[in-house]
Amino acid sequence: MAYLRVSNLKKSYRVSQSEYQEVLKGISVEFKRGEMVAVLGESGSGKSTLMNILGGLDNDYTGSIVLENEFFKDYTEKQLDDYRKGTVGLVFQSYNLINHMTVLQNVEIAMTMNDLPEKKRQDRAKALLKQMGLFEYVYKYPNQLSGGQKQRVAIARALANAPNIILADEPTGALDKEAGEQVMDILKKIADSGRLVIIVTHSQKVAAKCSRVISIEDGVIKSDEKNYSTSTKNTEKKTVNPKSVGFKDLFSLAASNVKQTKRRSLLVSIGMAIGIAAVIVIFCLSKGITGYVNTEVASKTNALRLTVRSTSSISDSTIEKFLSIDGVESAEKSSYISLNSTYQKGSHTGYIMMLNTAYDGLEDEIVLSYGNYLSGETQIFINENFALKFCDDKNEFSDLVGGKLSVEFYGAKTEFTIVGVYEDDTDFTDYPCAYLTEDAIKNLYTNANKKYVSNASYIYVESADYITAVKSTIETLGYSVSGQSQNAETMLEYIDLGTKILTVLAGISVAISAIMIFIVTYISVVERTKEIGIIRAVGGRRKDVSLLFILESGIIGVISGTIAVLLSLVICVVSSLVSASYVETSIISLNPLIFIFGFLTSVIVSVLAGLMPSMQAARLEPVDALRSE
Ligand code: ADP
Ligand code: MG
Repeated sequence: MAYLRVSNLKKSYRVSQSEYQEVLKGISVEFKRGEMVAVLGESGSGKSTLMNILGGLDNDYTGSIVLENEFFKDYTEKQLDDYRKGTVGLVFQSYNLINHMTVLQNVEIAMTMNDLPEKKRQDRAKALLKQMGLFEYVYKYPNQLSGGQKQRVAIARALANAPNIILADEPTGALDKEAGEQVMDILKKIADSGRLVIIVTHSQKVAAKCSRVISIEDGVIKSDEKNYSTSTKNTEKKTVNPKSVGFKDLFSLAASNVKQTKRRSLLVSIGMAIGIAAVIVIFCLSKGITGYVNTEVASKTNALRLTVRSTSSISDSTIEKFLSIDGVESAEKSSYISLNSTYQKGSHTGYIMMLNTAYDGLEDEIVLSYGNYLSGETQIFINENFALKFCDDKNEFSDLVGGKLSVEFYGAKTEFTIVGVYEDDTDFTDYPCAYLTEDAIKNLYTNANKKYVSNASYIYVESADYITAVKSTIETLGYSVSGQSQNAETMLEYIDLGTKILTVLAGISVAISAIMIFIVTYISVVERTKEIGIIRAVGGRRKDVSLLFILESGIIGVISGTIAVLLSLVICVVSSLVSASYVETSIISLNPLIFIFGFLTSVIVSVLAGLMPSMQAARLEPVDALRSE
C-alpha cells in the first residue's frame, strides 16, 4: 500500500499582478516506504517546488497529498509543523546549517523543537553524528567543515526526530564526487532501514543509484521507472510524539543568540540603561526634595492648617464632610466675628477687624510678643496691630497686659482681660484682630441675644502635598479657604513641574532606546531569516519563532534594567553623601519601588520594542525564509 500519495498536484507562482506561471501541472504519483526515489529533471523544471510542498514548507497548491489516509490539505498549521517536526526530515543542497551554532547544536535544534530532555537530546545527536563519521567534529562550527561534512551534519539533523520520510533537494549538488557518493550511500542505508527517501536531482548518475527514477519535464511526470526492487520492511515505528519546544530551551537559545551579538546588545543595553537611570534618579530626587520640603514646612509654620469660612453655618455634618476629603487629618469647628464689633479701652474706641476663636495648636504656631497665651473665657489675646492702638511701641506691651478691654457686639458690651500680644503673620497683620475662646464668643452672642453659630473651621492636612487639592475641594463645596502655605505650595508646584519636564526628557531618551531595540531586533530578524526558515523546517512553530525574538529583546531589557539600577544607585548614593554635608534631611529618596519601577520599565519597553519585529519573523513563510541569503 502506498505510504504517500500525490494526485493531480498543481502549483503556480505569481509573476506579476495578473500573470501566473504554472510550474507543476498535475503530478500524480505514489511512494512506498523503503523506496529510494530520484526525482530527475532539468533545472527550473519544478523539482524544488515539489519538494517544498511534500516537505510541508509550502501549503499553497491545488490537488491532494495523502499521507497514510490523511489529507495534507486538512492539516492545521500546527499539524503541519508537527509533520515537519516528526514525520519528515529535510536535506538541502546548501546544507542550511546555523553558522553560529556548533555541529552538535545544529543537530540538537531539531530535537529542541520537540522538547526532548537535554541529556537524551545530546546522546542521540552524538550517536547520529558518530553514524555519519563526524564524532570528532561535534564541537566544531559549520564553517570549519568541508561541504561533504556539512551535508552529513544536515542529514544527521534530518534524522534527529526519527522521521519516516527523508526529502533531499540536490543533496550532492555542491559536493565533489567522493563526498557525493558518501552522502548517497548514507541515504541508501536510510532507505534500507524502511524509510521513504526522495532525492531531487538533475544528475543521471545520482538517479542511477536510486531504486526508482521519476522524470519531471514541463511540470508533469514523463517517466517512472524501477531500477531495482526494495524490501518494504517497516522498521523503527515512530516513538516520539511531536511536542512543543520547552520554554527553558527557547530561553537558552535566545540567550546564546544575544551572546552571539554581544557587542551590539551591550551597546543598546547601555543606551537604554542611561535613559532609565536618568528617570530613576529624577524620581528619587523629586521624591526626596518633596519629602524635604514637607518636613521643613511641617516643622516650621502653620502651613498645614487651613481656615475655612462660611457665610452661613458649619455643622457637625460639614465637619464630617471635610474629614472625608483625602489628605485631611483633622478638622475643628470655630467661629469668627468680623466688623460687627467695636471695642473700648479707656478713652479709645474703634472697630475690631476680626475676632476669632482660638484653635488647637495656637501656642505652637503663633509667636508671642508679650504676655501669655489664651486660657480662660474672659480673656482676650490681641495682635500687635491691635495692641499698637493703645501704645506707641512694642516696649509698652507690658503696660497693656492685664488691662481691661470692652467689646461691644450688637449693642451689648462684654468685658475681657488682655492676656497677651502676638505676632500676626496672617493676611490680617495690618488690622486689629484678636483671639477668644469659643465660650467667650458664645458669651458675646448670649449677651447680645443672638443665636450662636459656628461659621468657620480649622482644618489640618497631612502634608503640604495635599494643600492645593484640599483647598480646591473645599472651595467647590462653596466655602472660602485661606492658609499660610503659599510658599511651600509654590515650591512643590515648581518641583512637580521640574520633575515633569525632566521626566519627559528622560522619557525621550528611553523612547530613542526603544527605537534602537526595535531596529536591533529588526536587523536580527533580517539577518537571521534563514535561521528562522531552518527552525520552521525542523518543525518550529510560528509562536516559537516570535517567542524566541521576544525573549531576545527581553534579555536585552533585563541587562539594561540591571545596568540602569546599578548606575542610578551609584549616582543616588554618591549625591546623597555629598548633599548630606549641606542639609540634614536627605534630599534623595532611595525608595526601592522607584528602582523596581525602573527595572520593570526597561524590560517592558524592550519587550514591546521587540514585539513587532518578532511578529514579523513569525509571519515569514518557511519556504520564503529558507530562500533568503
Ligand atoms: P528546480 O528546483 O527544478 O530547478 P524550481 O522548483 O526551483 O525548479 O523552480 C521552478 C520554476 O518556478 C522556475 O521557473 C522558477 O523560476 C519558478 N519559481 C520557483 N520559486 C519561485 C517563487 N518563489 N516565485 C516565483 N517563481 C518561482
Ligand atoms: Mg531546485
